[in-house]
Amino acid sequence: MSLRCLFACLLALSLPAQERPLILNAARLLNVRTGKLEAPGRLWIRGGRIQAGPPPAGAETLDLGNRTLLPGLIDCHTHLLFPAGLGELGYLKRSHGTLLLDGVVNARKVLEAGFTTVRDVGASAAFADVALRDAIARGDIPGPRLLVAGPALSITGGHGDLNGFPPHLHLGDEHIVDSPDQGRHAVRQWQKRGVDLIKLHATGGVLSNHDDPGAPSFSPPEFQAIVEEARRRGLDVCAHAHGDAGILEATLAGVRSIEHGSLLSPATAKEMKARGTFLVPTLYALESILLPGNPYKFPEGSLVKARAILPLRKAGFKVALETGVPIAYGTDIGVFEHGQVSADFRYLVSYGMTPLQALQSATLVAADLLRMGSEIGSLEPGRWADVIAVDGDPLTDISVLERVGFVMKAGKTIQIHP
Ligand SMILES: [Zn+2]
Repeated sequence: MSLRCLFACLLALSLPAQERPLILNAARLLNVRTGKLEAPGRLWIRGGRIQAGPPPAGAETLDLGNRTLLPGLIDCHTHLLFPAGLGELGYLKRSHGTLLLDGVVNARKVLEAGFTTVRDVGASAAFADVALRDAIARGDIPGPRLLVAGPALSITGGHGDLNGFPPHLHLGDEHIVDSPDQGRHAVRQWQKRGVDLIKLHATGGVLSNHDDPGAPSFSPPEFQAIVEEARRRGLDVCAHAHGDAGILEATLAGVRSIEHGSLLSPATAKEMKARGTFLVPTLYALESILLPGNPYKFPEGSLVKARAILPLRKAGFKVALETGVPIAYGTDIGVFEHGQVSADFRYLVSYGMTPLQALQSATLVAADLLRMGSEIGSLEPGRWADVIAVDGDPLTDISVLERVGFVMKAGKTIQIHP
């Protein structure tokens, strides 16, 4: 070792861990923007971010062997605080404290599966998702970088209201909005509690009682009031919507993304494309409701709704893809087990995306939806060093994303499987 090199090594070791330069080496690196595989794959990192140019002498090196480097993955539709298979009654019996602890456990599972950023869209009335986000950001507990919505806004009797219980039971209605003024009030309250975005239910749902997934919920003035107030407060709105009329009304009101979008028509898809409205399709969630043997024990009413929507949803997704609607990866984990957060990749490909499009939906497109394209979603200089490594080539076998061997978030190594 030369004297110059020795000096550089000593200087590097004297820096705090985050500031020490680190080189990641692997057999390949996939550029998700171009689809090109670079061999060998090499990144250098300092201060938690990817750096440009050649690394300094004396940088520490981490060799990841015969793996492919990729950007950390992004899920735009999760429910970290809802355990899968809990059901409506099970949920009502759980305290907010217990739900928050469920969130702590699930956040770790999702991070270890390679998801370094997650948009959580709909949690308990106590805004425990805000607490979870902040604890992860402080570094107190492991988890993905979180954007949270608090409880989703809904109408009386709509998806997200607790229907089918005797009228003397008061089960909480802070999230119920039945006029434009109530919509504005709710948005202000939600912002006061610290949310990053607003979620609303634009139509009925599959897992709720006494509502129709095909029917719109809010009136157009209510949609507009919520979106306009959210914009004034600097918040985006995402809209759960199955039926086409609800998708269109929410799109015209200016929501940032449509969640599920099951019954999307060609005319509404054109409107979404023209306005830059994203679709977050959550494909496996509906499939998981209809798994053989009903492992999550969904009630018969939900199975009937899921059976009716499933074949139409395939056509709706195809329409979005062919029209060029931006499609961002989202799973709806909480409907199914959180450890299966990578399950949607297979379905995106089997529904018509190329493997590169599926990967872009969980990186570049998802980062755009979150307005974080300059921070995450690619392995380019200046971005957070959110990096995963997989065995093999995801462009020839998308299922490799279900077995992530290495995860790094903001330059910090989370796990390496030998
Ligand atoms: Zn959901």
